[in-house]
Amino acid sequence: MIDFSLTRDQERFIDAIDRFARMELEPVARALDAGDSKGFPWDAAAQGIELGLTRMAIPEPYGGLGLDMVTTALVLGRVAYYDSGFADVFGATALGYLPLLLGGDGEQQEQWLTRTCEDGSGRLLWAFACTEPGSGSDSMSAKDPKHGTRTTAVRDGDQWVVNGRKCFITNGGEAGLFTLLARTDPARGQDGGTSWFVHEAGLPGFSVGKFESKMGHRVSSVTELIYEDVRLPGEALIGEPGNGALVLENVVSASDPIIGLLSASLAERAVDLAEEYARQRVQGGRPIIEHQLIQRKLVDMRIRAQAARWLALHALWTFDNFPPGDISLGIYAKVFASEAGVQNALAAMDVVGGYSYMRDYPFEKLLRDAKLNTIYEGSNDMLRHMAGIRMAEGGLR
Ligand SMILES: Cc1cc2nc3c(=O)[nH]c(=O)nc-3n(C[C@H](O)[C@H](O)[C@H](O)COP(=O)(O)OP(=O)(O)OC[C@H]3O[C@@H](n4cnc5c(N)ncnc54)[C@H](O)[C@@H]3O)c2cc1C
Repeated sequence: MIDFSLTRDQERFIDAIDRFARMELEPVARALDAGDSKGFPWDAAAQGIELGLTRMAIPEPYGGLGLDMVTTALVLGRVAYYDSGFADVFGATALGYLPLLLGGDGEQQEQWLTRTCEDGSGRLLWAFACTEPGSGSDSMSAKDPKHGTRTTAVRDGDQWVVNGRKCFITNGGEAGLFTLLARTDPARGQDGGTSWFVHEAGLPGFSVGKFESKMGHRVSSVTELIYEDVRLPGEALIGEPGNGALVLENVVSASDPIIGLLSASLAERAVDLAEEYARQRVQGGRPIIEHQLIQRKLVDMRIRAQAARWLALHALWTFDNFPPGDISLGIYAKVFASEAGVQNALAAMDVVGGYSYMRDYPFEKLLRDAKLNTIYEGSNDMLRHMAGIRMAEGGLR
């Protein structure tokens, strides 16, 4: 039976993170977004790390909080409600260690996950290095070895030698630990020809390239990563060689509904703010919330936010109860919720009118933030394409 009831401890943690995000993260994010401050907000991020936001999904024996994906996403959702960029900083850390959690052996998990939880610097983030300049959507699907991942990992004795370039990597400039998708068999497509690796920052030949300037989610940094004859030990390989596509698919079964829940939180914020404004704004002699067309917009926004949230929770619950979940449920949640976020951000601007266009108000930032959710973790069209292939094969309900 599907049951989303939370324990008192889970509720307390979610409430504590809600307060933290409202009081500590949102003001920092607003200042960065407006250009009033610059650089990565390490002080605020370190407070989130201290509270446990980077070790939620790590099992307790390794020092983590051992939360399931439903709870992890609900907590990250409270961060996203106040700022999508901070949700990326903590979410990309979980994304970074998911290939290890889902594809690594016990020894590897113990080594790297314990290290994450016991890190004394208070500043340890992960990054997930998959996308390349020539391989975005192809990373998930290319069957032809001439396409897809071009970064190579070549066996040399008991080491791997890595060469290539990644792009658009969240936390790329700040992370201390990385998971990396590389081609290990040039004769095969993504499935069979690619593998995941784990490594730390600061290795000879590894460097951070361009820091991108983004439209939204401006708290999180997104960078290139450059690998020039980087030597990794044999045990840096996660699981079996050639399992890159399989592990990626399992990761996406969790990460897509997480993005769905973050998007649902943004959609909820848009309607909360629009409703609050509509109660106060008087036109035609009464608060605009009493005008039927405004009511209709607000109700439609509520329906979208609620539907997005339940789709995401269902996919996350499936991941928790029937691991590794169902990629199609995650796709439905991510596609619907990210588009609900954009629609709600636009509808909020229609409800509010002229002030929504001004940067002193939160609405234009919501719209800029919402758009990314339709692009990353697989563009919505690419995800529809993947779901369509499964449907044609008769495997999708
Ligand atoms: C801010 C930001 C943060 C990111 N963070 C990370 C990160 O931490 N780690 C990481 O690895 N990546 C990250 N990404 C990369 C992100 O996942 C990719 O941008 C995304 O997968 C799309 O790839 P692309 O941009 O190369 O677009 P492309 O793959 O070039 O696609 C361009 C267009 O073509 C369409 N298209 C492509 N192939 C098909 C097809 N077969 N059928 C139908 N349509 C198709 C797409 O839908 C899209 O509309 C990030 C991106 C951004 C913008």
